[in-house]
Amino acid sequence: MLKGRSAVVTGSTSGIGLGIARALARQGANVTINGFGEPEAIETLRAGLERSHGVGVAYSAADMMRPADIAAMIADAERTFGSVDILVNNAGIQHVAPVEEFPPDRWDAIIAVNLTSAFHTTRAALTGMKRRGWGRIVNIASAHGLVASPFKSAYIAAKHGIVGFTKTVALEVARQGITCNAICPGYVLTPLVERQIEDQARTHGLPREEVIEKVMLERQPSRQFVKVEEIAALALFLCGDSAASMTGTALSVDGGWVAQ
Ligand code: NAD
Repeated sequence: MLKGRSAVVTGSTSGIGLGIARALARQGANVTINGFGEPEAIETLRAGLERSHGVGVAYSAADMMRPADIAAMIADAERTFGSVDILVNNAGIQHVAPVEEFPPDRWDAIIAVNLTSAFHTTRAALTGMKRRGWGRIVNIASAHGLVASPFKSAYIAAKHGIVGFTKTVALEVARQGITCNAICPGYVLTPLVERQIEDQARTHGLPREEVIEKVMLERQPSRQFVKVEEIAALALFLCGDSAASMTGTALSVDGGWVAQ
């Protein structure tokens, strides 16, 4: 389905990004993966994806807090695979604290990684997409891009921001064969959420199981974590020709969270 296409997925050494990179490779796309981790583990991951799916897989160590790294990552991907047809802005970090105790450096980092990096990747990738008259941009926002919860001010500001950015990009390129959409997951059990469970357990002084049930999944009517594969399947759909007219949307995959 995506043979001959090339994708960049930010923050894809783990969690949702890795699931999306895997799904894109399975459909025949060449993929640049990105994110932090042990070099050996990342190389095993990269080589494994390449071997299992018979596509080209490159790794970029670009830090999504650094605009120069981001520009180099897109340029490298274009050089390696000939194009960046699909861009998935997925890298994200979290910090949980009341506003007045929120460390300013954490605020800046969350806005940089979760919001501003998507501006830098998008502006770098759009030139080639416009030239070729085809492109797919998928931004991984959150239920927290549509509604708020306490103690996550920077994350919620960034995720609301990325939903707005998604709409603006969609409008700017609507006549050029390029779509831009946001996916808004509820809680997905990934390393990012594992860390939140630990933080919340400390904040509320509750055991892990109680945090999962009473704090986290309390807002998710299904009372089930969303699966990484469900997010990847929607991202894949958005990258296909059947989704050519879907653009500027924020699609919820959240067990009913924002229906409340
Ligand atoms: P994760 O922690 O498992 O993965 C995050 C990835 O981003 C990792 O590969 C990490 O190395 C990378 N990363 C972090 N900082 C980076 C930086 N400065 N530069 C480059 N890469 C960086 O998290 P996840 O749960 O898979 O989250 C992925 C995205 O999904 C995030 O944007 C997150 O906000 C969003 N999301 C997650 C959930 C959830 O419940 N897990 C829900 C809604 C939205």
